[in-house]
Amino acid sequence: MTRVAVVGAGIVGLSAAVCIQEHVPDAQVAIFADRQDVATTSDGAAGIFHPDCVGADNQADLKQWIADSAEKYWHAWRTKDPVETGIFEISGYSVSNHDLKMVADPVFHEHCRNYRRLEGAELDAVGGGPWRYGAFKTTLITEPRIMMPDLFNQFLGNGGQLVQMKLESLAPLTSGQWDAIVNCSGLGARNLVSDHSMYPIRGQVMRVRAPWMKQFYFGEDDAYILPNAELVVVGGTRQKNNWSLELCKEDRDRFVDKCAKMVPGIRETCKEPVREWVGLRPGRPTVRLEEEALAYGTDRSIPVVHNYGHSGNGIALSWGCGKHVARLVKDIAQREANRPRY
Ligand SMILES: Cc1cc2nc3c(=O)[nH]c(=O)nc-3n(C[C@H](O)[C@H](O)[C@H](O)COP(=O)(O)OP(=O)(O)OC[C@H]3O[C@@H](n4cnc5c(N)ncnc54)[C@H](O)[C@@H]3O)c2cc1C
Repeated sequence: MTRVAVVGAGIVGLSAAVCIQEHVPDAQVAIFADRQDVATTSDGAAGIFHPDCVGADNQADLKQWIADSAEKYWHAWRTKDPVETGIFEISGYSVSNHDLKMVADPVFHEHCRNYRRLEGAELDAVGGGPWRYGAFKTTLITEPRIMMPDLFNQFLGNGGQLVQMKLESLAPLTSGQWDAIVNCSGLGARNLVSDHSMYPIRGQVMRVRAPWMKQFYFGEDDAYILPNAELVVVGGTRQKNNWSLELCKEDRDRFVDKCAKMVPGIRETCKEPVREWVGLRPGRPTVRLEEEALAYGTDRSIPVVHNYGHSGNGIALSWGCGKHVARLVKDIAQREANRPRY
């Protein structure tokens, strides 16, 4: 049996925990977290599967994470009830005047449907323009508020345990009770493992009732309108190194203006938001997904698999990264099984 302690109960930790349970024979998995469910950053994300502009040290890994997530989510859409999974198809527009990659990312767009660049009259017809670049595509919403309880139930159903506590370091997990640690602590990694390349990317959004809004819009400067199952997410901001969790009226006015240029009807409904929220994306130049040996005592070490720093793409990449983590944990389990004992 391989005993695995996962730190973090956001979407990244939950996905990794379930992937380990599914792929590592006889794994016994516990999640350690001080925040879960609605208290996580993951809970408030809009959850569109739109993993563009992701930083990764290894492009082959990144392609695999996107492909594995896409496969999982498209399969869920084809075979399961979206009311239970929070995963459903959506079409819409990305437009930009500066950033061609936002509308033409070859790695991500391979996993969209109906992808086409917009030109001429079709591009002119998208509100808020004139636009230089534009694309239409069909992708997925993976709505965390529905998806995370579903994943958590799978985790418990597979025999997993949740330990609610704040860890000041990974030392309490080196007591000999665990064979491997998986670090999915998001922005918490900055203190937990002293990773000072981690920084917050502040995002403010509002959720409004606009049942007529059936398509998504991604515009310039992080203005976006993303329909969820019941409410529509209107946002947003992407402010690096801003730690404030307070709502900011100026930010709200700015993104409502930008969104209303794309879809004028959204302005009225934004006057009565159902919910407003600020979250701090776990920013890092590149996602950290790698194994290292954590030394402790005089001559001992425990393998730690780090899986954090997904910036604005944690929902989209969580399953693919979880599968990568499970492969590494499976290798650790095999190494341990083959270790000579004297
Ligand atoms: C406004 C906004 C919109 C977004 N929209 C999207 C989107 O459409 N698509 C997308 O893919 N992504 C989106 N994101 C990004 C996404 O939310 C993040 O990438 C993702 O939530 C990161 O997940 P995580 O599990 O790593 O972190 P978190 O959800 O923050 O979870 C971290 C976990 O680690 C635990 N933890 C940390 N430190 C400790 C410690 N010391 N001891 C114990 N436990 C600890 C916490 O308690 C928590 O359980 C958005 C983000 C924002 C802010």
